[in-house]
Parts: sequence; C-alpha cells; structure tokens
Amino acid sequence: MPFSALALELAEIESQDLRRTRRLLESPQGARVTVDGRDYVAFCSNDYLGLASHPRLIEAARQGAARYGVGAGASHLILGHSMAHHDLEKRLAAFAGFPRALLFSTGYLANIGAVTALVGREDAVFADRLNHASLNDAVLLSRAAFKRYPHLDLAALERLLAGSTARRRLIVTDAVFSMDGDIAPVPELVALAERYDAWLLLDDAHGFGVLGAEGRGTLAHFNVNSPRVIYMATLGKAAGVSGAFIAGEAEVVETLVQRARAYVYTTATPPLLAHALLESLELVRREEWRRDRLRELVRQLKARLQVRRWRLEPSDTAIQPLIIGANAEAVAVAEALARGGLLVPAIRPPTVPAGTARLRISLSAAHVPDDVERLVAALNALQ
Ligand SMILES: *Cc1c(COP(=O)(O)O)cnc(C)c1O
Repeated sequence: MPFSALALELAEIESQDLRRTRRLLESPQGARVTVDGRDYVAFCSNDYLGLASHPRLIEAARQGAARYGVGAGASHLILGHSMAHHDLEKRLAAFAGFPRALLFSTGYLANIGAVTALVGREDAVFADRLNHASLNDAVLLSRAAFKRYPHLDLAALERLLAGSTARRRLIVTDAVFSMDGDIAPVPELVALAERYDAWLLLDDAHGFGVLGAEGRGTLAHFNVNSPRVIYMATLGKAAGVSGAFIAGEAEVVETLVQRARAYVYTTATPPLLAHALLESLELVRREEWRRDRLRELVRQLKARLQVRRWRLEPSDTAIQPLIIGANAEAVAVAEALARGGLLVPAIRPPTVPAGTARLRISLSAAHVPDDVERLVAALNALQ
C-alpha cells in the first residue's frame, strides 16, 4: 500500500484525540445556525459584529456582481485590479491611519507576502510564541533568523533585539491573540521598535472593526502609531466578508506590490467582494452599537460563569478561552454543549500548546443576552 505510512500517522492523530472533523453548515454564518439538520446557537465565528449575512452587504455583493461580473480574471498586476479594489484600498488606508494600503486575498497570504518581501537571509524576525500560524509560516519561508520570545515578555524581546546584528530587524505579533483573546502591549512594542531600529508587523485580525474608536483597530485602541508599524488586518472576520490588507508607509506598500509573491502570483479576489467591503466599512464605522453590545456580552459572560475545575483566561475581547487541559475532555465538553443546542469549538494542539486544550468561546454582536445566559447555565452545570 503506497499510503500506509499516512494511514499510520492518521491513526496516531485519532489515538491522541486530535482528529478534526468538519460540521456541515446549512445556513448563513451567524449566532443562530443550522448544522446537520439541527438548529444551534453558535459561539464559533469570527463574525464579531454580526455582518457576515447583513442584508446590505448581500445587496452590495449583488450590485458588485452586476457591475464587475463574478471573477477578477487576472492578477492585480496584469488586469485584475478593479476600481472597487482601488477605492477600497484608499478607504482602508485612511481608516487605519496609514499613507497606503494593499489588498490581499486572505490574511494568511498577506502575512506570507509581507514578511517574505521585507526580510530575507541576512535579517532577523522577533516573534511572540503564541503568534498565529500564518506569521510563523511566513517567517520560515522568508529564511530570516527566527527569534521567538515567551508570550508578551518584553524584557526577553529587548534582550534579543539588543543582541542582534542582523541587517534588518522585524518584530511580528498578533495584536489580539487569536486563541487567547489578550491584547499585545502595542505602545511598548512601538517604543522597542524605535529604540532598536526595527519594524513592527502588527496582525490585527481580531482587533480591526472591534477595538478603538469607530472600530479602527488596536492602534486606535492605544492611540498610538509610528512609521515603523506595518499593519495587517483581515476582512473576513469583523468586516464580515473576505480578504485582508497591509497598510503602512508608501515605500513599504510599493515594495509589496513589486516583491510580495503572494500578491503578484495570484488571481485578484472577485471585485464584488471589494464592492461589498466598501459597504461593510461604513457599517463598521457608523454602527457603534455593535461594539457596545459585544462589550456588554463579554462582561455578562465573565460575570456569570462560575469557573471551578477549568480556567477562563483573562480577556476583555470577543475571544473568551475556557482552558480545559486534556484533549479528550475538551472534546467531550464541546459535545455535551452541542447536545444542548450550543456550538463552541474545542481547540486542541497543535493550534494551542499541549495540555491547554480549550473551548474558544467567540461572542458576536449578533448574540443576545439570553444566548450567553444559556451557555453560562450549561457550562456551570457541566463542571
Ligand atoms: C484568521 C487569522 C489570520 C488569517 O486570516 P484569513 O483571512 O482567515 O486567512 C491571520 N492572523 C490571525 C491572527 C488570524 O486570526
């Protein structure tokens, strides 16, 4: 059997309670979903503002399709760069507070493209240990020296920076950590970048749209910015659509246009998505009540959950991780919740460190207080 080695590896995954399966979603994404023929309240999505199936975005996508067709048909540098992409880039740059922005198909590709275009063999990247997988993959692909520091440990980061003789130094970090929900100390990171002549790539996948005035993101939350910051945010999470962008100084963005292989060698995303995102950006900016409601639900969850055997990580964002520990128990708890009509994903290694399997509870402005109350009651009864 040519694939028997793979079968052995798959059996090993199964025996460690690490096999992943996909549920079949039959409804639009949202707080209430239909999965495998049954209705659930879901705490699984990154659709933090409840925009993924907003009627105005559906209508904008329809209009975008009528105006631009369905497929972009070419990469951006050939003839795939439409008016809608261009307008969106200008709006995103202004919204995030940078001279220029560049759209990518996904956040994964934005990180790969940016890091590999900006650093190489003679350079060093300094990375928080809990960074998103896409940032780690990007660094490996760039061939720069990969220096990881313990989660949020600024003293360790400073020692690494002080000892570095690399040509270029790039600090990379999640702004809001995707599996923990805590926020990086951005002002201190900016100060270190300035002190040690480094750049700071900030991955704001979970802060954009959620944190800061008008949802402008983690930099706005801290009221800080610097020409040393290279800002990445995704458009498939709070913005409810798809894609990502990098914003920064004009030279940085122009370098990406010329050099980022994950930008140059791929078909542009359908312009209808950019057209829908122009509408999404308006909703993100104007509808402050969505962020107010989200904050209120976070407060409610933290106040009402009675944690005994497990541990709720300190987080004030929409991502609320309930650390359970063992893989099998995390899965069993998620299954028990599902039997009661509540979907919460069990996150296991290698996505999180061994021994810290968890329920990753994601709240959304689409939830109502009664949804949170049901989840809290179920969890309080289970532990
Ligand atoms: C989701 C995520 C990404 C990837 O973004 P996609 O648009 O989903 O590819 C990158 N970084 C972080 C921190 C994320 O959570």
